[in-house]
Amino acid sequence: MSAPRRGKPPRHFVDLSAAERGEAMAQAGQPAFRAKQLATHYFSHLTTDPADMSDLPAAGRDELVGTLFPPLLAPIRTLTADAGTTVKTLWRLHDGVKVESVLMRYPGRATLCVSSQVGCGMACPFCATGQLGLTRNMSAAEIVEQVRLAARALARGEIAGGPGRLSNLVFMGMGEPMANYAAVLAAVRAFIAPQPEGFGVSARNVTVSTVGLVPAIDKLAAEGLPVTLALSLHAPDDALRRELVPITTRWTVDEALDAAKRYYDATARRVSIEYALIRDMNDQGWRADMLAEKLTARGRGWVHVNPIPLNPTPGSIWTASEPAVEAEFVDRLRARGIPTTIRDTRGSDIDGACGQLAAEEGP
Ligand code: SAH
Repeated sequence: MSAPRRGKPPRHFVDLSAAERGEAMAQAGQPAFRAKQLATHYFSHLTTDPADMSDLPAAGRDELVGTLFPPLLAPIRTLTADAGTTVKTLWRLHDGVKVESVLMRYPGRATLCVSSQVGCGMACPFCATGQLGLTRNMSAAEIVEQVRLAARALARGEIAGGPGRLSNLVFMGMGEPMANYAAVLAAVRAFIAPQPEGFGVSARNVTVSTVGLVPAIDKLAAEGLPVTLALSLHAPDDALRRELVPITTRWTVDEALDAAKRYYDATARRVSIEYALIRDMNDQGWRADMLAEKLTARGRGWVHVNPIPLNPTPGSIWTASEPAVEAEFVDRLRARGIPTTIRDTRGSDIDGACGQLAAEEGP
């Protein structure tokens, strides 16, 4: 067999519409209700192993399951931190390319940070994935498989803390989710659809993080899904933002913030502003004031700010802000009435800033 070429993953049950699932059953000579049985195994029992599916007739079961659930993700490396409650996995996809996901368990919740693209085309200079460039989009099934495998590890008690449930999903792994809109939205729908058509988790527990592709923000706002939007702003002024988030030469800071505010108006979900604090780059007090002004100019209560100390990428000249500077930045935002919480830096000792592990592994 020749080596698989980079590109489209094999057909997978998750990528099929209800009608296509029905057709696949007919083609396999199976009654239509098998599609629901398969969905139950996948989304409720979190399995793709025919041996677990004793409600399907033994004859033809392996073929049916094998053709609809081809393996899409194979683990290459697993790293743990925080006494086993943070687990980062590097996955190999069917065509040999690599992506990462990180599971973070807290008392009462478990969050999975997923990748949505192999690499990323946004080229943010402080981000490890940004340095890789874009290889390809991930399919909905490839995104959802990250979710199923994390949920299964939790359900089976394989994560420190005993058996548990996956409660939160954040698109803060590799890639720009808004640049792979259709697959990301299909994955979100699979996450929030009630069982057995999906994992049955609340839309409120999903966060889509974006550099700020304005038309896609408006499109998401119109979907009528109360998912949380995170806008990676990183600078309140256009001159610096163009350097840190180069794709945003297309939209000014004001245009990105207007879109974020429209998102809040449409969904009533408070928007998160992501701000990686980089020493002597974007961490000046005046920039905190300017950010606070731009946010309050658009109203109150619609936004909160999540600064995170930069997790320096190998070879980068940039580093995290001094703790005192970080504290001052936060104080200035809070003093102007902006709810502000420093983002958790869990897993930074295992290259938790996604993309770093894949970059280190090489092609
Ligand atoms: N493309 C999406 C998702 C990317 S990762 C986006 O840009 O929002 C999620 C967040 O991590 C983004 O806010 C991104 O800017 C930030 N990030 C990337 N590299 C980082 C680093 N080295 N240190 C801290 N935050 C980083």
